[in-house]
Amino acid sequence: MGLLAGLPTLAHAAAFDVDHAAQLWLNTLSGPAKARSDAYFEGGEWLALWNALFSVGICWFLLRIRLLPAVRDGMHRRGWRPWLGVLACALVFIMADSLLSLPWAIYEGYWREKQYGLLNQSLGAWLGDQAIGLALSAVFGSVLLLVIYAVIRKYPKRWWLIGTGVVGLAITFLVLITPVFIVPLFNTSSELPNGPVRERVVAMAKANGVPAEHIYLVDESRQSDRISANVSGIGPTIRISLNDNLLKKTSVAETAAVMGHELGHYVLGHVWRMIVVLTLLMGLLLWLASRIAPALIRYGRESWGVRGLADPASLPVLAGLLSVLSLLATPVTNTLIRVDESEADAFGLDAAREPDGFAATAMKLSAYRKIEPGPLEEMLFFDHPSGKTRVTMAMQWKKDHVPNAVEVVPSPLPDPKTPGSRP
Ligand SMILES: [Zn+2]
Repeated sequence: MGLLAGLPTLAHAAAFDVDHAAQLWLNTLSGPAKARSDAYFEGGEWLALWNALFSVGICWFLLRIRLLPAVRDGMHRRGWRPWLGVLACALVFIMADSLLSLPWAIYEGYWREKQYGLLNQSLGAWLGDQAIGLALSAVFGSVLLLVIYAVIRKYPKRWWLIGTGVVGLAITFLVLITPVFIVPLFNTSSELPNGPVRERVVAMAKANGVPAEHIYLVDESRQSDRISANVSGIGPTIRISLNDNLLKKTSVAETAAVMGHELGHYVLGHVWRMIVVLTLLMGLLLWLASRIAPALIRYGRESWGVRGLADPASLPVLAGLLSVLSLLATPVTNTLIRVDESEADAFGLDAAREPDGFAATAMKLSAYRKIEPGPLEEMLFFDHPSGKTRVTMAMQWKKDHVPNAVEVVPSPLPDPKTPGSRP
């Protein structure tokens, strides 16, 4: 079977059967490897629910022990200004929340990832990355909350509207600084070395009017075995990067197919569109929170010691509420992202003209994404098209664009459990 990999069969183009060609690709994942891929992804679907419940539990616990009212009153007794009270409450909340959820985070982010062979880090290195993440959340989160609570105090009725603007600016700022200030805290980026991959990417970029002086290679194999590429940044910081796993584990045709997809995000302006769409969605969540939170605070007033929404001790109420609302909004968020991803897929097929390379990488993503979900499952839980959707799209493209298209018989994906099968 392995020797025949990639050899065209004698089927003629007129007879090119999209579903059959797609099925040959889907057949490369079967048995225990497929069960494992399904289990990892389905477990993740449940984790989204448990995460929201867990976060509500932590918020409820912090309200019951009246942690933030104690911080607020302590600051007040010292005669410190209200904004310092907000800052102290925000920092204490972010720290307490991270500490209480640490065992769960270790299970989900470290232990479970190790079980599925997706993490390359030691516990110490993983915790180090988490600490950097926590420091970033503490700095950005507390500044953001400082502004949001100032807005709530000044505009008790319309705060959600101005708050949406503030969140939109915060998202834009984070996207802007991510490639230059945040990524380097976790990884090293270098120029993609000269060679066939770079030549292909530069040629595609030029053909599509994308500046290609820099293409970045990120050493994400430090953290995991996942293959990945992305467009990050905005305006002066926008860039296309791929990780070293993609370079190591895929052929030139496959890498070209992935980079065609990333060029699609760039050319189609998806970064801006996503900022606008996510800000609008956040506006809806904040509006709902502005309607529901006051009732919750009235309900818990006696036992929680929260005086109102403008009181920074209300933070756990807002945070718990927003985690539930975000969970409920997940299918919408996923669909908004998936639409862009599907557009980028179509663009990438046109740009790279590697339908089989595209199908091959779509199958390799089975390491962390279920390949054949039901239609409802794909709509609810998938933020990228599933492997089956992608492979079928690629084979349809091949039928429509490749004269005399022939099927390839791909070799089965290596079983991730087999020692030595992973580079
Ligand atoms: Zn994408």
